[in-house]
Amino acid sequence: MDLYEKYNLKHVINADGKMTILGVSKVSDEVVEAQKQGAQNFFEMSDLLIQTGKYLAKLVDSEDALVVNSASAGIAETLAGVIGQGSRYHVYHPYTERITKRDVILPMGHDVDYGTPVEVMMNVAGARMVPAGYANMCTPEHIEMQITEQTAAILYIKSHHTVQKSMLTIPEAIEVAHRHNLPLILDAAAEEDLVKYLEMDADVVIYSGAKAIEGPASGVIFGKEKYIRWARMQGAGIGRAMKIGKENILGLTAAIAKYLKEGSEAGSAMKQRLEPFVSNLAGVPNLKVRVVQDAAGRQIFRAEVTPTGKLSAKEICNQLRNGDIAIYAREYRVNEGIIEFDIRAVNDVEMYQIVSRLKEIIEGE
Ligand SMILES: *Cc1c(COP(=O)(O)O)cnc(C)c1O
Repeated sequence: MDLYEKYNLKHVINADGKMTILGVSKVSDEVVEAQKQGAQNFFEMSDLLIQTGKYLAKLVDSEDALVVNSASAGIAETLAGVIGQGSRYHVYHPYTERITKRDVILPMGHDVDYGTPVEVMMNVAGARMVPAGYANMCTPEHIEMQITEQTAAILYIKSHHTVQKSMLTIPEAIEVAHRHNLPLILDAAAEEDLVKYLEMDADVVIYSGAKAIEGPASGVIFGKEKYIRWARMQGAGIGRAMKIGKENILGLTAAIAKYLKEGSEAGSAMKQRLEPFVSNLAGVPNLKVRVVQDAAGRQIFRAEVTPTGKLSAKEICNQLRNGDIAIYAREYRVNEGIIEFDIRAVNDVEMYQIVSRLKEIIEGE
């Protein structure tokens, strides 16, 4: 059965990276097997969440953990939890006026749109966003001056999407929060290190399941027992609209265990896979090619292609996307005339297809 044909869909080669618009990542056979086990068996569902949480918490040395259906759900349920503080009344009346302590402080440069604005998830939680600092800077003092009796938590977004310049560090944010007896909640959705921020003593750390972890569409929150318990309670309230199925609870749990054991592809292995691709690309006329490392210093190597013929980088990317097979290159630098190919989710056959499609496009110049 060819799903692409059945539903009239295009084959996609994802040489862009972890892209939500393309379905983020592919999961391994091991994870699919766990999903299958989950899908084809029954469980006491509340126990399934508690026990997989315990298992995961142990792997990263956290007090507790909870599998959720996305990092976004993790943000909403965690914030709702710190606002409700274990109140059953609040679970059923999440936006009640009886509770006024709803301020969540966020560095202004962290209110980014990662597919939806961070502020939308805060609103879902019933939190009132209190921006700290300015568009281009936020210091510990900027956070501190926004703290009042109504402050429920401080939220920090660790991401390349946010303003990086003149931004307080995570340890600084934790220090300010703890000095005022407030939890520091960290959205680390796309980050690769599942341990580091807990070691820094962040109270809750939130990850997306399908990004670095390469699990199914899901999320996970790690952190202090109390906050995880409060977040779990939201399953009977706003969390009901974010329910995760048993197949993905087990799929993500398997994916995290695998990820912690094996990590992602090593930089050296990626470089080795790039070699034949790069030399084939260099054989295409009007292309300058070299291997470059990720600008943020991660162990990711990409093929950087600079077209020197009539077609601009942008025009070539458009044609790549609009062919019979939709090829998505990394387009962050097309305005500088540069196309990048990220091969983390690209196999050898697909690399060959990229080269022949590029040849076709360039020859048609
Ligand atoms: C991707 C991302 C999210 C959302 O993750 P989902 O699992 O898709 O909800 C949240 N925050 C940041 C910084 C992200 O990059």
